[in-house]
Amino acid sequence: MASRRWVVPPQDQWDFPWTRGDRCPCESGKPFGDCCLSPDGRPLLKLGPIHPTPPATGYAHPRCYLNRSCDCSRTISREHYISRGLISRPGLKVRGMPWQAEPVMATSADALTSKILCQRHNSALSPLDAHAQRAFLALEAAQMHATKASLSRKRFSTLISGEALELWAMKTLAGLYATGMDFKVGPYRFRDYPPPMANIADALTATSPRSLMRLEVPTDPDAHEASLGRSAVSTLPVIDEDQGRLVAVIFRLQGLGLKFHLDEGAPTPPDPRGLRPHMIDVVGPDRSSRIYVSWGDARPGQIVFLKLKPATPRQKDAWRASHQG
Ligand SMILES: [Zn+2]
Ligand SMILES: [Zn+2]
Ligand SMILES: [Zn+2]
Repeated sequence: MASRRWVVPPQDQWDFPWTRGDRCPCESGKPFGDCCLSPDGRPLLKLGPIHPTPPATGYAHPRCYLNRSCDCSRTISREHYISRGLISRPGLKVRGMPWQAEPVMATSADALTSKILCQRHNSALSPLDAHAQRAFLALEAAQMHATKASLSRKRFSTLISGEALELWAMKTLAGLYATGMDFKVGPYRFRDYPPPMANIADALTATSPRSLMRLEVPTDPDAHEASLGRSAVSTLPVIDEDQGRLVAVIFRLQGLGLKFHLDEGAPTPPDPRGLRPHMIDVVGPDRSSRIYVSWGDARPGQIVFLKLKPATPRQKDAWRASHQG
């Protein structure tokens, strides 16, 4: 097997706006140089531990989808299978969820819960929800900055963790399946194409959790909503007809489609242009925003710029008007 070369781009190519002494973009309050600046000169948002505190309990809760690790608590929790932070904000619509009858549903966060994780695993994995929420807010802020008419061309920059998003996608997909719910995906039924539950459980509960997915931010505009900036979350499992299996899941946050490819023997490699991007540019009429995406330690260092057009204020108003009341 050919060895894979990991290339870290030189720091000047990163062109990030934070100097060592600036407040860290992760909002820890610490200087960037002491926080999210990695020793090799990249911005790196740390994931933090998502493993339950040892020692292991030796107990497998029958309803917990991570019970293979025999490290459950006796109590089952009401888990939000879509991160609470993404759905508990006022005015946010959960739309286009495949199990929803109505196309748009303003929902209460508590409606989307199910007893699928023990308390111990639920709290261990909660940093992933926090990272997903952070990404959602970053996209929102990036779009707001890019669409605002302003004389200042100053660029807005923010930092999210791609590594955490992939693990969050695994958790959310497995959680969705664990609820037992079924829905149609085009001509297929979700339950006929299960995600690799055992592998996901093993990868999420490993001492060093590992991703079984690869994030692609598709360069094809069809993967995204017509205009970015809708305050909404939606999801779509992707089933490959030829392979007869679930190959990916798309989560749309703020209209931006994030496609997570399941890695197992994928015969068609995802489009490398949008694969694990290091920077996503949201380009508005007057100014732009840049989202830096960090990828942990051993990842390809190629820099991908994605230029995305956010919704104009007019599009947003029109959309709001048509979805109110
Ligand atoms: Zn930091
Ligand atoms: Zn458990
Ligand atoms: Zn929750």
